[in-house]
Amino acid sequence: MTQIEEQVKLLVELQELDTHIQRMEGELESVPLEIKDMEEGFKSKTAYLKKLEDESKSLVLNRKAKEGELEAKEGIVKKYQSQLYQIKTNKEYSALQDEIGRAKADGSVIEEDIIRLMDAIDAKNKDILKEKEVVKTEEVKLAEDKKRLEAQAASVKTELEGVKIKRSELAARIDQKSLSKYERLLKNKDGLAIVPVANEACQGCFRILPPQVINEIRMKDNLVVCDSCARILYIAPPEE
Ligand SMILES: [Zn+2]
Repeated sequence: MTQIEEQVKLLVELQELDTHIQRMEGELESVPLEIKDMEEGFKSKTAYLKKLEDESKSLVLNRKAKEGELEAKEGIVKKYQSQLYQIKTNKEYSALQDEIGRAKADGSVIEEDIIRLMDAIDAKNKDILKEKEVVKTEEVKLAEDKKRLEAQAASVKTELEGVKIKRSELAARIDQKSLSKYERLLKNKDGLAIVPVANEACQGCFRILPPQVINEIRMKDNLVVCDSCARILYIAPPEE
């Protein structure tokens, strides 16, 4: 194996580790976002429950107000009825009867309102019970999912530490010049510094490579880079 061939082999191994590291780091970054998403979802469920409870409270207030109105109307009817005995003329009597009739009719309308409100309160309370069950289930699920994600993150973290140690051991075996070229590319080329050639194309940017570039790689005298994307090129040994 030539010096360059050996270096390329190590760089390919290093790229595999770096790709693995990037994937794990991506996973670790996504965990808090996933948890935040789940918490937001749960918050919207509790907010909906709160909205239903507020609506129920306002229906109850409305009902109490109507009951007050009804009581007032009944008071009026009673007052007029007691006045009926003191009346002297027929005309006055029938006028007062009319007043009583109107107050009673008003009272019936209010009574109907109260019945409608009571039905609405019952329906709302049923919704609240249902929503409370949903919130309870979701709360348990949220806690479980959070625990699962956190455990997953912890195991990825441990794995990541191990791979990073492996990486620094491997990096120490690569010559300084090749390593710094690789690391510069890794940083500037979306985490992909060394790519194979397949079907005469660079597998970083997928441009067809001129035959002399492919020959140059085969010579194994230098690190050869892609003219288009500047990534280091290598020819993968045939798979077995
Ligand atoms: Zn390329």
